[in-house]
Amino acid sequence: MVLSRQSYFLAKSMNFLNYKSFWIAVLSLSFFFSCTDIPNEKEAEKPSGSNITIVTTTTQITDLVKQLTGGHCKVIPMMGPGVDPHLYKPTARDVMSLSTADLIIFHGLQLEGKLGTAFETAGLSKDKIFSISSVIDPSVLLFADEEEGKFPDPHIWFDPEIWTICLRALADKLSSFLPEHEVFISEKADQLTKDFQKVQEWGAKSIKRIPPTQRILITSHDAFQYFGRSFGVEVIALQGISTAAEAGLADRSNLVDYLKESNIPCIFVESSVNPKALQQIGREAEVALGKPLFSDALGAEDTFIFAADGQKHSLASWSGMMIYNIQSIVEGLAPDGQ
Ligand SMILES: [Zn+2]
Repeated sequence: MVLSRQSYFLAKSMNFLNYKSFWIAVLSLSFFFSCTDIPNEKEAEKPSGSNITIVTTTTQITDLVKQLTGGHCKVIPMMGPGVDPHLYKPTARDVMSLSTADLIIFHGLQLEGKLGTAFETAGLSKDKIFSISSVIDPSVLLFADEEEGKFPDPHIWFDPEIWTICLRALADKLSSFLPEHEVFISEKADQLTKDFQKVQEWGAKSIKRIPPTQRILITSHDAFQYFGRSFGVEVIALQGISTAAEAGLADRSNLVDYLKESNIPCIFVESSVNPKALQQIGREAEVALGKPLFSDALGAEDTFIFAADGQKHSLASWSGMMIYNIQSIVEGLAPDGQ
């Protein structure tokens, strides 16, 4: 009886049309697992932290959680490299993971689209769910005027100071779940804070190699406004802050005209956004395409980049992503300034 209901709700959630069905599936399975005594012979041998399961949504959050917990608990990411969180639709595997998770960490600010709204309205225990953006003072957020209303720009990881605040708050939350690893988490948070500061200082110096009139970053969708504010770069995007609405013909034509009149040497597609529209604009305006930037998703865990000091960084980490993006932007906009 229980299994047939489980299958029904999973099938309903897989059609992705109804988020109410999705959450009924999650909550039903939560109840099912809480009533099921699953034997675990090795449980007594494990440190308690290793029994904790944390589900994370975006790759940026997965990076922080994995680094802060250092393998002391199980981390199940929902999204991987190249995945656009604005358009993400949960899978049957996600429903299973969410229903058995001890803690769910998501971004918020509508980055995950309807999924984020569902997290906020599902009625889950506040102890079980944490929005990493909920700790940010609204006065530091940027806002975009979209047709449907004014709402915050969610791409806050591109501001190193804001992302450090998120990191510290996340460390506190994780320490409360893994008190036996509090010292490890605290030391790791201190180390990451220093790493973020180092990347910020190096990034600011690197961007200054671009001639001031060419410090204009043109990308597929409007993910880099926080980056622009932090590093002194003007940002222009074909699409708005969500990829859910495509750019119109007028937007494309205006950008082609703008590029023809400017001396911008290069525009940038993104690893998690369809590049076709910007590639077409590059051809029409006869402007080169730079290396694809990481915007809303980090890279794969087995890919790396070397910083100026020779230190190796995974592209699945915030530092690796920032170093790669800044190197690519400087290379594209200041080809003679390296
Ligand atoms: Zn985005």
